[in-house]
Amino acid sequence: MANHITVAHGDGIGPEIMDATLSVLEAAKVSLHYDRIDIGEKQFLAGHETGISAASWNTILKNPVFLKSPITTPQGGGYKSLNVTIRKSLGLFANVRPCRAFMPYVHGNFPDLDLVIVRENEEDLYAGIEHQQTQEVFQSLKLISRPGTEKIVRYAFEYARVNHRHKITCMTKDNIMKLTDGLFHKVFDEVAKEYPGIEANHMIIDIGSAKLAHHPDQFDVIVTLNLYGDIISDIAAEVAGSVGLGGSSNVGMKYAMFEAIHGSAPDIAGKNIANPSGLINGAIMMLNHMDLTEEAAKIHNAWLCTIEQGIHTGDIYKKELSSQKVGTKEFAQAVIENLGNRPSQMKPVDYGKESKPISIQLKTEKIHQKKELVGVDVFLDWSVGNRNPDELGKLLEACQSDAVQLKLVSNRGVRVYPGGVNEFSCSDHWRCRFVSSQSTLNANRYVTKFHALEALEIPKLLERLFAAGLDTVKTENLYTFDGKRGYTLGQGE
Ligand code: NAD
Repeated sequence: MANHITVAHGDGIGPEIMDATLSVLEAAKVSLHYDRIDIGEKQFLAGHETGISAASWNTILKNPVFLKSPITTPQGGGYKSLNVTIRKSLGLFANVRPCRAFMPYVHGNFPDLDLVIVRENEEDLYAGIEHQQTQEVFQSLKLISRPGTEKIVRYAFEYARVNHRHKITCMTKDNIMKLTDGLFHKVFDEVAKEYPGIEANHMIIDIGSAKLAHHPDQFDVIVTLNLYGDIISDIAAEVAGSVGLGGSSNVGMKYAMFEAIHGSAPDIAGKNIANPSGLINGAIMMLNHMDLTEEAAKIHNAWLCTIEQGIHTGDIYKKELSSQKVGTKEFAQAVIENLGNRPSQMKPVDYGKESKPISIQLKTEKIHQKKELVGVDVFLDWSVGNRNPDELGKLLEACQSDAVQLKLVSNRGVRVYPGGVNEFSCSDHWRCRFVSSQSTLNANRYVTKFHALEALEIPKLLERLFAAGLDTVKTENLYTFDGKRGYTLGQGE
């Protein structure tokens, strides 16, 4: 019986590349039944606020496998990204993006480029939890969890093991984001110890991205957080030849979704010039995932033949390398005609009889740390006079009590009271750090000994701030976990 999969044609070039991909699957006689759904811009314009109808959601939930064309997401406003919603709702925690060179058939500078980016897919800034807190300041919350991090890091190591890859590079920015990115790096180091046969190293994301653009052939598997992974996979795809070539899988414990790495490319939509290779490669990953490995290899080899024959869409066409410039449909037709052929110059693929499922088991036991409230950061909207930090500091000190003392005031992360930086231009958003009055502070107001704070002291403090005419826009509790500080210090603290 044919496997049911959900298929969405998406927006922009989506319908063209999906038709091309399905024509290849059908010609290869892959036994699949397509449950087609409409999602994206048209659905949104038809009144479905989320870009998807309830019936389409039910179809997605019914089938464990989803083949999806890109969809358009409005920038800077409008509805939330449906891509992100689907990934999160289905628990698709791993986004796997292989990227390789096809030289000398596709222009590139790195013949040995063959890497895989494993991107965390559910957390990070993609929660899209954003607030305007004052006239001048906007906030986006970056949330990273230990189980979420452990899941993706273990997946990356298992992926490397199963696919005979030898090296994993973790990329973070933990020199700046010491708690969130620091956790990712720490978990990576912990899990790496369980895989002595795989070389593991870490790079700060900025130099890592630069190296990726300059020497992508030095990487094997890269594991990273959601946002960084999104950015570097486009860099890697472009360096390999075109963003139009790469496929990607979004994998969870129950569901999996396959797509091209690129977007809906509205600039070239409806012209029959888009490269359908990204989605075809996504479909090949899907067939492997579904254990249809022979069909996957047959299509992959036909696709390699087509590339090798120089039959190219405009994005990769080069007079000196290509034999024919073709449109989307014609490219798919060339792949169909090559079904059953194997590339003569590039290495043909052989996926064996069985797929290699990747299963992971979280090992971190439930954490039982002693959590103690030791203070509170109160964020104020304050733009009185010429925003003199000393003036605000005095107002805040008048709100201290036997229970809480002011430790410091910072603005845009830099300490401005007491003894702040001169010539610092202050925004209207102030972070005022209060700690228990029994805490011991040194001359630099650094806590040398924490002391617990009664939770009820926080609303009492807020009442005093309110009475002093100060506008609290949010609070963030300060905790220690097993006696260790669970928050970062301000610059200059
Ligand atoms: P894009 O990837 O759509 O396009 C970037 C550039 O690459 C464009 O010049 C485009 O013409 C070209 N390009 C992309 N795919 C191509 C292909 N198959 N063949 C030839 N050229 C191709 O990125 P964008 O313009 O930043 O985004 C357009 C829309 O797509 C946005 O709404 C964005 O949110 C959305 N998007 C969706 C997904 C997804 O559904 N998974 C992913 C990324 C972006």
